Amino acid sequence: MSDPAIEHEPPEEVFGLLGNRLRVDILRALADGDPPVVFSTLRDKVEERDSGRFNYHLRKLVGTFVRETDAGYELTLAGRRVVGALVAGTYTADATLAATDINDPCPECETAPITASYADDVARLACPHCEEWQIAFTFPPGTLAQYATDELPSALDRWLRTLFEQLTAGFCDNCAGRLDSEFVVEDTPQLVWRCDRCGSQSRTAAATPFVFHPAVQGFLYDNGVDPTTTSSWRLLAAGDIDYDIRDECVSVTYRAGGASIHGYVRADGSVRGIERSDRK
Ligand SMILES: [Zn+2]
Ligand SMILES: [Zn+2]
Repeated sequence: MSDPAIEHEPPEEVFGLLGNRLRVDILRALADGDPPVVFSTLRDKVEERDSGRFNYHLRKLVGTFVRETDAGYELTLAGRRVVGALVAGTYTADATLAATDINDPCPECETAPITASYADDVARLACPHCEEWQIAFTFPPGTLAQYATDELPSALDRWLRTLFEQLTAGFCDNCAGRLDSEFVVEDTPQLVWRCDRCGSQSRTAAATPFVFHPAVQGFLYDNGVDPTTTSSWRLLAAGDIDYDIRDECVSVTYRAGGASIHGYVRADGSVRGIERSDRK
């Protein structure tokens, strides 16, 4: 198989193309309609009377952010990503949330409630009782505003599961690049996921790929821990976890309902050798 052909435009020129309000409006209008959109409809959508001016700025976007077809204009992947970043508030929003109670017990000390807060693009769940337990993760500021406070715990939980799935599959959550991972051992082993391409780095409990493996989710379900209604942060602390790190492998055991499940997580995030005590 031959290597895929990839042409790179100079980034300063590509981002320079977006330094104009009308061009950003054109991208938003294209995202809003059923593609492809014909010239006159697009011009009406952005309410630009000057056809020459409109055409000039549209032409600047064609080839990078906009694709011209026989049937009209549509966004390229780069164009959709720009609009996605705009609506996610990545460049523009400044959201904060003061510490708010979540009626979920702390995975460490089992005292409720824990709290959720948000600042500087980072969501933080913490226990005010033992001050031992906390997790923090980036969350798009524009998405925070789409949820009422009572919807937030579930939204943050679903977002975390999405992040875990993406990291475990080996894709950078920032740039979709290929991830490398390795173990670091502090109190408990953790997996560090690194993207050389954009410099992004995430840490998860080493058990994360194991806990969200279908066989383990099935085991938990069969033994009284419903993974669909138990928050991801409680699943990661569910049962008793035994860690044993050797040969670039972490051995993980979960116990629930009098049974146990055991397996190995490798440094690349893959899971091997799962065995259940209640299934021979
Ligand atoms: Zn606690
Ligand atoms: Zn990346």
